[in-house]
Amino acid sequence: MTDDPTPDSFGLATRLVRGGLHRSPHKETAEAIYLTSGFVYDTAEEADARFAGTSPGYLYGRYANPTVRMLEERLMGLEGAEECLCTGSGMAAVTASVVAPLRAGDRVAAPRALFSSCLWLLDTYLPRFGVEVVFVDGDDLDQWRAAAAKPLKLVLLESPSNPVLGGVDLKAVADIVKPAGAIVVVDNVFATPLLQQPLTLGADVVVYSTTKHMDGQGRTLGGAILASKALMDEHYRDFLRHTGPALSPFNAWVILKGLETIHLRVPAQCTSAARIADALAAHPKVTRVLYPGRADHPQRAIHARQMSAGGTLVALEIAGGREGAFRFLDALQLIDISNNLGDAKSLATHPATTTHRRITEAQRLHIGVTPGTVRISVGLETCEDLLADIAQALEAV
Ligand SMILES: *Cc1c(COP(=O)(O)O)cnc(C)c1O
Repeated sequence: MTDDPTPDSFGLATRLVRGGLHRSPHKETAEAIYLTSGFVYDTAEEADARFAGTSPGYLYGRYANPTVRMLEERLMGLEGAEECLCTGSGMAAVTASVVAPLRAGDRVAAPRALFSSCLWLLDTYLPRFGVEVVFVDGDDLDQWRAAAAKPLKLVLLESPSNPVLGGVDLKAVADIVKPAGAIVVVDNVFATPLLQQPLTLGADVVVYSTTKHMDGQGRTLGGAILASKALMDEHYRDFLRHTGPALSPFNAWVILKGLETIHLRVPAQCTSAARIADALAAHPKVTRVLYPGRADHPQRAIHARQMSAGGTLVALEIAGGREGAFRFLDALQLIDISNNLGDAKSLATHPATTTHRRITEAQRLHIGVTPGTVRISVGLETCEDLLADIAQALEAV
């Protein structure tokens, strides 16, 4: 193996293990951690040439770092994107991808069902700068058409959406909003690049929280923006350099190691999630199950078209509202209560009182978050143990 980034002709698993690998002269096996904030130049002339861009090489850790670059190249190979820039968290990636192209007077559209910090960015922060934000029901194409009746600068969407795993038809929405001028940004965290490839469905930009399935073991925060070279040069590279949401080289290394096994972990988690969804659907104390892989999901057709499996998250509604949900959560002995997701450990959350407590009850009900709604992020434990834990916790309801 040379130290060139792995060509696209290799299989997925090969690219996940070796993509982007650049060995130092020491020929280390594992990717090196370049834990340095800066770089030095042999001569003043060399520094001049580096800053002029006529001599290749690193300048400063806020701009780029060799370990972070290995991660970016591995992600480019995974997503099929021309360029990738990583950030210190998923929200740094979402914020940069949305804010960088905008000017006062621009219009943005997004579904109402969004990851809660993404919603804050759109409904609270952007309007302060004279950006108009139009919210739609993500699965209603007529509402997208109405939003696109006037020029649109950018669209941010996620599918499956947080927290109840709604489906947005990425291709149909891209076809509607792109003629209005929109840059289509897809937050693909819930699906992961293994199950859904938004760039092939018309998205211009894909963003990730690497904190979730890419790290996969709950250790680091990180984010990534993937797009064409042209978009990166026009909107994102300078914004990231000068505003400074850089990813730590150490965290980049942990995420590189996480990617080496993501193709083993995510399918295993999907298999367990599907079994858990089926078991929950048959339980009398569960009034509703929302799993993208089940035939009874309201947007099943959309998910089946654009996702190759149902994903690692299951949403359910427990009988007895908030009290029932709390009893269930408090009775869990194996599955932890946590708002995180995409971890090797199974985690359960009550969105109405945690991630989605900021919005009103009416807004929550509109996006399907009832007082009894619980979201489970299915981990890597033995599935029978998870099923047994869920069954005994439902006894407490
Ligand atoms: C977690 C998450 C984010 C934010 O990522 P952080 O790494 O926590 O900043 C954004 N979007 C979705 C869908 C997420 O699940």
